[in-house]
Amino acid sequence: MTEKTKIKKIVGIRGMNDILPAEAPLWELFENTVESVLKSYGYQQIRTPIVEETALFARGLGAVTDIVEKEMYSFKDALNGDDLTLRPESTAGVVRAALEHNLTYDGPKRLWYAGPMFRHERPQRGRYRQFHQVGAEAIGFVGPDIDAELIMLCQRLWDDLGLKNIRLELNSIGNAEERHRHRTDLIAYFEKHKDILDGDAQRRLHSNPLRILDTKNPAMQEMVNAAPKLIAYLDKESLDHFEGVQKILKHNNIPFRINPRLVRGMDYYNRTVFEWISDDLGAQGTVCGGGRYDPLVEMFGGKFTPACGFAMGVERLIELMRASGEPFAANQCDVYLVHQGEAAQLSAFVLAERLRDAGLSVVLHCAAMSAGGSFKAQMKRADASGAAYAIILGEDEMASGTAAVKAMRAAEMQNNQTSVPFDAVTDYLMEQIIGGDDHCCC
Ligand code: ATP
Ligand code: MG
Repeated sequence: MTEKTKIKKIVGIRGMNDILPAEAPLWELFENTVESVLKSYGYQQIRTPIVEETALFARGLGAVTDIVEKEMYSFKDALNGDDLTLRPESTAGVVRAALEHNLTYDGPKRLWYAGPMFRHERPQRGRYRQFHQVGAEAIGFVGPDIDAELIMLCQRLWDDLGLKNIRLELNSIGNAEERHRHRTDLIAYFEKHKDILDGDAQRRLHSNPLRILDTKNPAMQEMVNAAPKLIAYLDKESLDHFEGVQKILKHNNIPFRINPRLVRGMDYYNRTVFEWISDDLGAQGTVCGGGRYDPLVEMFGGKFTPACGFAMGVERLIELMRASGEPFAANQCDVYLVHQGEAAQLSAFVLAERLRDAGLSVVLHCAAMSAGGSFKAQMKRADASGAAYAIILGEDEMASGTAAVKAMRAAEMQNNQTSVPFDAVTDYLMEQIIGGDDHCCC
């Protein structure tokens, strides 16, 4: 007896999302806006591979960071045994590429990137295993001016996207020597309060005590608030740099709050660090984080090259855009082409190409399983497509060498349906669409 085996459906991986067509216009709007803002500041795009050698992240991000300790998708190349990792962030890869191709040989470079990142975290609102970042890296710049520029670029993006209530927190974490002096006192302070430290903090006490300042544990807040502040350990040069950033921001009316507890997760940061935070996203409110990472190029074996950058979380920004309630136009086409019979189908292909040559977007009706090819079924599809016009090629039209052009939307309805000679359809439609004051378009 042959029993039909039930085929198990394969579903997507937990924490890795599909971005469906209904969401795509929002993503496109975000991507187009961010790209134009970055270009308006002279940043150039760089695309690096999604997979890098594991050692790149271990060395660049620091062995005791959350990412390297527990969040990386690392695997052995099944063919040659290489240790590889899906990128959890892009700074390491961009700096690797800049060094490998000697990009800064003729001066500093302003770079940007966009793409998916991978971290094995517990999926929750605003925290996914595959997520997207857009980031900028300004490599070879030494002063506080570029730090301020990067921050102002973000502010312009929020403004262009119509996002309000994203606030800026700023801090300076000094240089390695200043952090070392602070660290010694910090460890001594935490040791005095060992009974209050949770497991995570106990573990970090000697490996990464700075990160304890970042704790979200309510029971530790009071103790952490009174801990020695790194800013008190900064020497003149670091303080001047920090003040330089603030001066430019103030002069340009960019509000900020200095948060002495703000530290960034990665080891490579120094001096200026910043985060943009929204209170409308629940626990995962940071939409963008960045700062200076002067030591990184040297850590990768290059010569000292100061740098500064940021990375923003696209999913969190998209959520804010959605919540802002602005209407986002769905993708719609200009024309839906309806046809009946073999000869009409062939002509429809020709006409559709002509209209596309003229710059219109055209959906040509193709055979589908769900709805038959009857005239009525095709017109229903035309209606659902959101097209401004339907063009109909039926037997009558083929016989008379014409096409019926039907306006589908209220604004174009005055002259609901017109018969137009086949060869004049492109001109007629261009006149209707571009010539009229109501330019539809996708
Ligand atoms: P968090 O404290 O939220 O874990 P992070 O310090 O790990 O953030 P960064 O490495 O600085 O984050 O990444 C920059 C931005 O990328 C974050 O501010 C956030 O908006 C976004 N981001 C980071 N991890 C995720 C994730 N797992 N899912 C979605 N977005 C993320
Ligand atoms: Mg994280």
